[in-house]
Amino acid sequence: MPFATREFGWRLDASCWPDLSRCAVLMTDMVRSSRKREAEGKRCEPQEMADILVVFDFDKTIMDWECDDWIVHEFGLIDLVNELLPTTPWNSLMDKMMGELHSRGKTITEIADVLKRATMHPRIVPAIKSVHALGCELRILSDANVFYIETILKHLGIRECFSEITTNPSFVDKEGRLRILPFHDFRSSPHGCDLCPPNMCKGAVIKRMQASVSAEGKKRRFIYVGDGVGDYCPSLKLLAGDFMMPRKNYPVWDLICRNPTLLKAEIHEWTDGEEMEQVLLRLINAILAEEEEEEEIKSGRSVSSDHGL
Ligand SMILES: [Mg+2]
Ligand SMILES: [Zn+2]
Repeated sequence: MPFATREFGWRLDASCWPDLSRCAVLMTDMVRSSRKREAEGKRCEPQEMADILVVFDFDKTIMDWECDDWIVHEFGLIDLVNELLPTTPWNSLMDKMMGELHSRGKTITEIADVLKRATMHPRIVPAIKSVHALGCELRILSDANVFYIETILKHLGIRECFSEITTNPSFVDKEGRLRILPFHDFRSSPHGCDLCPPNMCKGAVIKRMQASVSAEGKKRRFIYVGDGVGDYCPSLKLLAGDFMMPRKNYPVWDLICRNPTLLKAEIHEWTDGEEMEQVLLRLINAILAEEEEEEEIKSGRSVSSDHGL
């Protein structure tokens, strides 16, 4: 029997969200400081960085599944989710489901083990490794949560390929229960975007990334890979020279197809992991060839102007 997913769940009223705003701020700080620690040392960097930033959605882009749906499915929580969905926003519903699993005696290790079994296309991991080896910066921008993503990426041995994971904070509390919090505290500071779920506006995150790139005085090309409704807002924020890679016949692709002229970025669709790999590598190699050509022209010009002097 099909069951409701976050694609619909987030449209509901946020009235049932528990008072976790202080906790959310604390967790965001913890996530920030852990990112800072990563930035200070342990990341593996390719020898020469390309000026390309590849932003991946996670659920149904890297993974075959929405991770929440996978958990709900594997732990037999479908009926309970369907019962609570009409009155509970998705993000807080999943926090409740973690409480339910805890009360049923399920440990964090058991939840991690279920996540590690979630399926994905066999070309996704090689694609990520290739993109990283080509010198691109890779980031995750996801409406899942830190625990799910870190658990799966570490299990796959590709955590170090990503410089940043932007998603809903999560943590294991004193009782050993996983807590899931919204990325934006939508009660005290709503993001005000009509296109996005209350807990996360990915477009706002992309704007922030663009601002930090331009503050560094860099010119960087963004490639955004995604499938869901939540990936539409960031696709509208991409600039000319960027690339949007929507998964064909998935919600973001449907939305883009209604009026592709709303996007400044070039649109390159893909259907599965194999095609995602091919399209990504084709785009990156084309950008790198273009950059190399520009470099050659620049150095050629400086040589001839030197001669002129
Ligand atoms: Mg997705
Ligand atoms: Zn938005």
